[in-house]
Amino acid sequence: MQTDSSGQLTFEGAALNSLAAQFGTPLYVYSAQAIRSAYQSYAKACEGLADVTICYAIKANSNIHILKLLADEGAGFDLVSAGELARVLAAGGNPAKAVFAGVGKSVDEIEYALKAGVGCFNVESAAEMVRIGEVAQRLQIKANVSVRVNPDVDAKTHPYISTGLKENKFGVSMAAAPVVYAHAHQHPWLSVHGIDCHIGSQLTDASPYFDALDRVLALLDQLAAQGIVVNHLDLGGGIGIRYRDETPPKPADVLPKLIARVKTWATAQGRSMPSLSFEPGRSIVGNAGVLLTEVEFLKENEGKHFAIVDAAMNDLMRPAMYEAFHGVVAVKPNPTAQANTYDVVGPVCESGDWLARNRELAIEQGDVLAILSAGAYGQTMASNYNSRGRAAEVLVENGQARLIRRRETIEDLLRPEQDV
Ligand SMILES: *Cc1c(COP(=O)(O)O)cnc(C)c1O
Repeated sequence: MQTDSSGQLTFEGAALNSLAAQFGTPLYVYSAQAIRSAYQSYAKACEGLADVTICYAIKANSNIHILKLLADEGAGFDLVSAGELARVLAAGGNPAKAVFAGVGKSVDEIEYALKAGVGCFNVESAAEMVRIGEVAQRLQIKANVSVRVNPDVDAKTHPYISTGLKENKFGVSMAAAPVVYAHAHQHPWLSVHGIDCHIGSQLTDASPYFDALDRVLALLDQLAAQGIVVNHLDLGGGIGIRYRDETPPKPADVLPKLIARVKTWATAQGRSMPSLSFEPGRSIVGNAGVLLTEVEFLKENEGKHFAIVDAAMNDLMRPAMYEAFHGVVAVKPNPTAQANTYDVVGPVCESGDWLARNRELAIEQGDVLAILSAGAYGQTMASNYNSRGRAAEVLVENGQARLIRRRETIEDLLRPEQDV
């Protein structure tokens, strides 16, 4: 994001104020260039080091136009539902480069994924392994499987987005994993592909990745001793982004070191170098998007100032759900407005419906604000709470804005109840 000569904020050459006027608010705006360069920072970090696939985690932002952009860059995909797989297919992505994760895959979802030719199932329990084997046998389609292990390392992030501790619902414990692999190994319709581990999200410290990798490699030694050779490592996603003052590691700081450690291990064991994959979501799209919202009213209660805006918790859940911080700026300077310390809140009937607290802003009714770093877990977590339609989405590329999701209408909201 940049500021032009008149002080207006621009995103990849498009003035945010003009986009708000053209497309209305609330409006998600994404920069194609920012998404591409975030993806490339992963691809380039691994270049020439190993056979690596970067599988973009769709749940961070699942707009099919963004998936297409990433597929064109060469990305694979990490998906967690049939709906996300349908998005990959609609975007023209290659299902063979997709991995299917998630703790509760239904029989229908497994069947759909097998028929679509999904690359691998990341299996999260013994019961799920049995279910995938049954569906694969019935359809006579071999299923590639990896076991998602839970390495019990502390990712030191928000408890709701930490996934690699034994109290979390994710993955198979290190102790139970060999039995789950043994089942897959002897099953005629299951093919052991790899091992997977994803320890959490918004990680700002790289050391948990290395702890997790060491445990994964130790497990691979144990499996090899059982005659089960696993030759693919999926090391998950989770690298954080800057919302306020965080200094997360860059892919170039972490990935080459992880790959080097795998190489050292493979050499020591006399094995061939395994292929690898990573599953970044937030760090690909998070800083590539903003949410534009217009100030509906300013209001003061006993000395406390509120900016009531037209975006709400249904559009951007993160503050209400995790007390997450997002930067807020006016998209152009307002020289006549008086500065105050505002809570920026939405119209939804919940006290938890706030987007930012205690922010110094010089604004008036009708001004447009940009909620920053809203590209990940923004629109994908949006709901219709309070019967509010979801916001529109726009992709900016070289100064040109393109609508990539129209605003939901009242008819869209009522139709599923009227079509019964
Ligand atoms: C959510 C998720 C990711 C992506 O996490 P980010 O923090 O967005 O990078 C990767 N893998 C799995 C299995 C996930 O559930």
